[in-house]
Amino acid sequence: MSVQVVAAKMAEVELKDVPTGKDLPVGSPMTPTSEDKSLAKNDSFAAGSSAAPSLTVESSAKAGDSSPGLLTPNAAKLPQASAMKRTDPQQNGGEAFVNRDGTVAEAPRMKKIQFAEQKQEFNKRPSKIGRRSLSRSISQSSTDSYSSAASYTDSSDDETSPRDKQQKNSKGNGDFCIKNIKQADFGRREIEIAEQEMPALMALRKRAQGEKPLAGAKVVGCTHITAQTAVLMETLSALGAQCRWAACNIYSTQNEVAAALAEGGFSVFAWKGESEDDFWWCIDRCVNVEGWQPNMILDDGGDLTHWIYKKYPNMFKKIKGIVEESVTGVHRLYQLSKAGKLCVPAMNVNDSVTKQKFDNLYCCRESILDGLKRTTDVMFGGKQVVVCGYGEVGKGCCAALKAMGSIVYVTEIDPICALQACMDGFRLVKLNEVIRQVDIVITCTGNKNVVVREHLDRMKNGCIVCNMGHSNTEIDVASLRTPELTWERVRSQVDHVIWPDGKRIVLLAEGRLLNLSCSTVPTFVLSITATTQALALIELYNAPEGRYKQDVYLLPKKMDEYVASLHLPTFDAHLTELSDEQAKYLGLNKNGPFKPNYYRY
Ligand code: NAD
Repeated sequence: MSVQVVAAKMAEVELKDVPTGKDLPVGSPMTPTSEDKSLAKNDSFAAGSSAAPSLTVESSAKAGDSSPGLLTPNAAKLPQASAMKRTDPQQNGGEAFVNRDGTVAEAPRMKKIQFAEQKQEFNKRPSKIGRRSLSRSISQSSTDSYSSAASYTDSSDDETSPRDKQQKNSKGNGDFCIKNIKQADFGRREIEIAEQEMPALMALRKRAQGEKPLAGAKVVGCTHITAQTAVLMETLSALGAQCRWAACNIYSTQNEVAAALAEGGFSVFAWKGESEDDFWWCIDRCVNVEGWQPNMILDDGGDLTHWIYKKYPNMFKKIKGIVEESVTGVHRLYQLSKAGKLCVPAMNVNDSVTKQKFDNLYCCRESILDGLKRTTDVMFGGKQVVVCGYGEVGKGCCAALKAMGSIVYVTEIDPICALQACMDGFRLVKLNEVIRQVDIVITCTGNKNVVVREHLDRMKNGCIVCNMGHSNTEIDVASLRTPELTWERVRSQVDHVIWPDGKRIVLLAEGRLLNLSCSTVPTFVLSITATTQALALIELYNAPEGRYKQDVYLLPKKMDEYVASLHLPTFDAHLTELSDEQAKYLGLNKNGPFKPNYYRY
């Protein structure tokens, strides 16, 4: 049976498995089935709960409460999202985007945009020079969420600012501001390519046939504007939403994709190479529009959310919820919540299990090789590599390098992870023990000063040093800025640091995250994120009054499971169903959730 047939069959079968709620539109992907209802009587994960009530992921862990949410008996049918404490955000450094031709467009190290004293004068146009000297003060968001690629089109071919152009699509609609509407056909092809690797969104569209769980939703979005985002936006539109969109990053917009979206009737305000003034102007054009007021926010980094907070706080009266993707944006939401200033429910999609697994383990397993290859053309077979940290990212890196025939050493501080490394066949060492012999050093600890000058001094000639973890703190790059060492930029993102005796080390991306700086993120990874975002929007938009308070929530586990299940048909994967007897034995609803919140995958 072909993948398509299986997908179609699963699409039919799985409609009933979607997280459900009596308050949601009948027949929508969120509507309970009779099976759900009867089984709901029998599920209980909660220790000691002898009755057989329905399962609810109780919002037991509020923001700031580190205790895991418990699955507890509850009369309400739909598992509610749990408000969870999250860890400190990673403070990534700058980023860069690899163009199709292999050239890398470097972005400067970014800092957060300041909101409080924003005095944007939108009608006052910046000088050309000002616009071209791209801002260094764009939000952190641009560095901790992923864009698969920058625009493949060169924005330098036309110096006219999109703000100075009057453009209309073929239907005469001019409610957008993009680089060049003529690139729409090219953009459409990019979107179609992305659709191939975004099976879950395509399945959602199919399942929604006729049903519009987002009917009436007016979504204002601020994310990377790429082919993958376009697939998301077109899915939201198919589900009934109206969308207005700006870019969360001044470099990451694929101009041709923005053109295709504008041609398709979307109000998009974005182009590659915006100035800071442009950036805020575009966001403002999305929200400050006559006769249209958003009722949902989809944000990546929190800039849009904060803009509305600062400029149009009254809009929150109509806004039903915020969906936030990035570490930084989520952190800002938790800060607002802590300060009692969050006035609508917010969904933290960043910490959804499926998304986390893909971002940390599976994506890094692929992008470590991609990043190293693109920058150094290194051959991995037989190379000695030390990976610092055997968490999710470290496990991914180690697995990939081992598979390529590298000899992999691991350093760890945690005996559990250390034992895991041993059981997986890696030599657990202290960095000092191998630093003289290794060819590649990779940090992925989330810690600081894991590789310091002493290590760098002892490395052998040609050793490649890079970081896959927290920001640019893991390698003490500052310690290499001393007069006796010479820095040579040999390629974009590649520096040779040369010692007086001629020894040189190869430092990648100046110690910033290698994969975000030097490779792209696979569309399939972004598909997981986009599906999670779409379901979070559906959940918040359809939630009855009172289900979600003014707090930050995680997507209900059942929906997290649903995101995963929507991606299974791609692999012609056949999921085993619990029998009634087995479900009863395990105390589970046959349709999930299958694990308690504290389960570690
Ligand atoms: P994790 O907590 O699962 O793993 C980190 C591991 O490093 C832990 O096991 C910890 O014990 C170990 N560690 C801490 N200090 C150490 C030290 N001095 N020496 C050796 N080991 C040490 O975290 P994770 O999910 O693997 O993420 C690691 C880092 O990577 C984080 O900063 C995270 O933000 C970042 N990250 C990067 C990407 C990417 O695409 N590059 C994706 C996700 C996360």
